[in-house]
Amino acid sequence: MGPATIPVMMRLVAFTVDVDRDVNLPTPGKRQACSKCHDGDREEVRFSSSARGLRLIVDLLEEVGIEATFFLEGDTLLHLAREMDVRELLSRHEVACHGVCHEDITGGSTGAPLTGPEISEMLDRSRDILRQVFARDPVGFRAPYQHIDQRTLFLLQKKGFSYDSSVTRAIDEEDDSIRPWKAAGDLLEIPVASGRDQAGRRIVSYLWPMHEGKRMPDDYRHLAASVHEGALVLATHSWHVVETYNRGLLGDTSIEVSLSNLRRVLEGAREEGMEFLTLKEIAEAWQA
Ligand SMILES: [Zn+2]
Repeated sequence: MGPATIPVMMRLVAFTVDVDRDVNLPTPGKRQACSKCHDGDREEVRFSSSARGLRLIVDLLEEVGIEATFFLEGDTLLHLAREMDVRELLSRHEVACHGVCHEDITGGSTGAPLTGPEISEMLDRSRDILRQVFARDPVGFRAPYQHIDQRTLFLLQKKGFSYDSSVTRAIDEEDDSIRPWKAAGDLLEIPVASGRDQAGRRIVSYLWPMHEGKRMPDDYRHLAASVHEGALVLATHSWHVVETYNRGLLGDTSIEVSLSNLRRVLEGAREEGMEFLTLKEIAEAWQA
């Protein structure tokens, strides 16, 4: 038997974490995102919830034995690197790029799109920061706010990235599949999924509504069960287990609930027969 037999049917799942400034919000006309301020309208940038949530999520992943993909925003990463050994912390996980200051590439939220040279410079800087902190070569990208366009996909391909994971794509209702595709040359798009919940309403594999109290872990287990072939990309933010848009900073009991919900999503996907891989591994399996 050969060691690398590719199964005909693949039911893969990846857990991805966007590590960026706390509860980030686009700032109209500005390149840099700010953090939601819970006591007034000040423009501020914070990283403490992102740092705390990152540690908690890595601990949880250790307990459940899952290797994940972390999309790290450059400025946030430099901040984290000053207060923790982030290289050691993420040594068992994939690290990938998520911009430098949470740029809105397309201008969809800020009204100020980046020019081609600005996108190119942002990608280079983002990758350089990761190389510097982790001494590894990132091959993946997720656009801040998931705002991606074809200019950026071409640049990613030209710069030697393997995949992007910014697009949301509906699970095919004909054959219950969600597959990566070639977005520019050999660059793969490994999309976030949308499907239907038990009541027939749209649900996205980004766990945002669960952290905001609007979805239950079983909704995502149902979503995982509905994928019969391909790769399901689950996504969240590092800060979202300790701070939410609606409630602000969570107390210890709420944080425990948040982490236990996340654990149920991950274990639920595995109990539904899906195999956890990093996005880099999924890209390699697909290219093969
Ligand atoms: Zn982000």
